[in-house]
Amino acid sequence: PYDVLVVGGGPAGASAAIYAARKGIRTGIIAERFGGQVNDTLGIENLIGTKYTEGPKLAASLEEHAKEYNIDIMKSQLAKRLEKKDFVEVELENGAILKSKTVIVSTGARWRNLGVPGEAEFKNKGVAYCPHCDGPLFAGKHVAVVGGGNSGVEAAIDLAGVAGHVTVLEFMPELKADSVLQERLNSLPNTTVLKNAQVKEITGTNKVDGVTYIERESGEEKHIDLQGVFIQIGLVPNTDWLADTVERTRMGEIVVDNRGATTVPGVFAAGDCTNAPFKQIIISMGSGATAALGAFDYMIRNQ
Ligand code: FAD
Repeated sequence: PYDVLVVGGGPAGASAAIYAARKGIRTGIIAERFGGQVNDTLGIENLIGTKYTEGPKLAASLEEHAKEYNIDIMKSQLAKRLEKKDFVEVELENGAILKSKTVIVSTGARWRNLGVPGEAEFKNKGVAYCPHCDGPLFAGKHVAVVGGGNSGVEAAIDLAGVAGHVTVLEFMPELKADSVLQERLNSLPNTTVLKNAQVKEITGTNKVDGVTYIERESGEEKHIDLQGVFIQIGLVPNTDWLADTVERTRMGEIVVDNRGATTVPGVFAAGDCTNAPFKQIIISMGSGATAALGAFDYMIRNQ
């Protein structure tokens, strides 16, 4: 069996595996796609200590760093089941069962897509998902935020500080965000809220130049000229495969304590798949390190 088996090879998993291997213990990592969401990112400007890098480059250097250590790297493998017996067992899609004294789940998350024409086409060309990451690219410009829940309204307030104007489009007749956030949004001079608005298309030629939406009450089609669209209709954690083994929130996020421990002894979690409040590369890396040290500490106390 492994001492530490990491499931997920994004920033959290790479960090957890490296921290574990540095203790000289038997470490493995299973990754469907090494690098995780970082592969889908273009410019990265908030990985502190690195002024600028690009997603595929960072993904490659995460793997290169992990290869410096004695880590069993199992790429293109999907975990489908976890069970705690004498060891923690992880079953893969291909039927193999891996055993480990401790497991660190770092299977990340994915942004929910709107699924309208233009969204995929203009990803990184005006279509964005992360205001902390891409907000500064739209300084002084007009942007839309699609989604009026807490994350949408938080994003709009955040973006209003850098963008020229922010238009929030909400499908339902009311915003779902907390009223304190709505009040804050309404107090800002450069924001507009459109309710009952169904986004139909994100338009552009080689980058975004606008959004077409349907005013649901009247059925009328309208168009706004703008340069960026932030889609904020939910971040879905990749945790369905855990079923009811570890405690998860209503949103599916794995509940962890301040050492990365889940409700199952020996099972830890890190990164975007957990209930940690903010989802960023640097935060995922930090939580991966925490979970690895938490797992190591657990091991030396339970042998
Ligand atoms: P992920 O990166 O999601 O990695 C999850 C890993 O688990 C992957 O290896 C995946 O293949 C694997 N996996 C999933 N399910 C299974 C399974 N069942 N079995 C085996 N493996 C599995 N953050 C920033 O800090 N700065 C930015 O500029 C930035 N820009 C972004 C731009 C975009 C377009 C996106 C989508 C995100 C951006 N982020 C940015 C957020 C950042 O990428 C994430 O916070 C970070 O990647 C989370 O790391 P993670 O390791 O927790 O999860």
